[in-house]
Amino acid sequence: MPRKDLLPQSESVRLETTSQIVGLFARNLHELGAAACEAKQKRFGTKVFWVNNRHINYTNICQGSCAFCRFRRRPTDSDAYSLTVEQLLETVADAVARGVCEVHLVGGLNASLDLDYYVSLIRTLRKNFNDLFIKAFTAVEIDFISQRSDQSLAVVLAHLQEAGLDCLAGGGAEIFADRVRREVCPTKLDADRWLEIHRTAHRLGLASNATMLFGHMETLSERADHLLRLRNLQDETNGFLSFLPLPVVDFKDRALDGLSALKTLAVSRLVLDNFPHIKVFWPLWTLKLAQLGLSYGADDLDGTVGQYKIVESDHSENVITPETVQQVIRQAGFEPVERRGDYYIPANSG
Ligand code: SF4
Repeated sequence: MPRKDLLPQSESVRLETTSQIVGLFARNLHELGAAACEAKQKRFGTKVFWVNNRHINYTNICQGSCAFCRFRRRPTDSDAYSLTVEQLLETVADAVARGVCEVHLVGGLNASLDLDYYVSLIRTLRKNFNDLFIKAFTAVEIDFISQRSDQSLAVVLAHLQEAGLDCLAGGGAEIFADRVRREVCPTKLDADRWLEIHRTAHRLGLASNATMLFGHMETLSERADHLLRLRNLQDETNGFLSFLPLPVVDFKDRALDGLSALKTLAVSRLVLDNFPHIKVFWPLWTLKLAQLGLSYGADDLDGTVGQYKIVESDHSENVITPETVQQVIRQAGFEPVERRGDYYIPANSG
């Protein structure tokens, strides 16, 4: 049985300070995992969610300079690209024909694209695929579009929402501490702006997700601060669908060990008591570690994914079938439940 003092939810006591959260990291991994698993099971029993989805990067041209990124290209690079609306439509049509019900659409900060392009991407997808769940754009892209178009965040988000956007992606949060951002993602928006974009989206009725890229140069205290800031915004708006702790794969030859990653996952579940879903995004966790993560507080394995290129990893299994996703969940002792992007569960899912 997990120790009582590791179960803030069951005692209605919240971990309120960064030092309390840092203290959790000193606890035994497996006790933390049991406490996180118990917190998850109180919400969802043995269910673990997955989605038949497709990640698509509409452009790899980016003027950013994130230290961990292996994806960005300069406009003159031979393999630089931007999808036209027609090319995107073709790609999505192929995915939908294969049963995909959610697209995750993100790309680089490409100065040759304007607000009309982004709105047109979304409007065209919505017009052609009424039931498709469209998750698109991180706060970093929304900030960029807002600045380039000289429109407020609210106006940009409202245009995209009106065109058919369902939900914002959660990327670009990295670690909120300025000290870390200056080194890891010096040209990205700061924490306050990231949070303001999600706050604005939530007020418009647009859901979103949140991430934390960890295991590079941040301290445990900075990790704790990141979680608390997310929890505070969720208390205010209740607009986040899920949280994805993302272990760094390649940062100045530093790679995170699996046990530390699992501990961070368990701590995330215990601290983020107002986030319904904690996801192990398997292309970064590896399928095997993600499977283990289901016993450390995660209730969602993401999905079939199809393509993930922001951080290149040694993991070659970026495409898996729905059958494999379900098998991985069952092997871990849980019940796979297919969901839509908004966590709606189709009647025939099981
Ligand atoms: S992570 Fe995103 S914003 Fe940063 S360099 Fe890569 S594509 Fe650009």
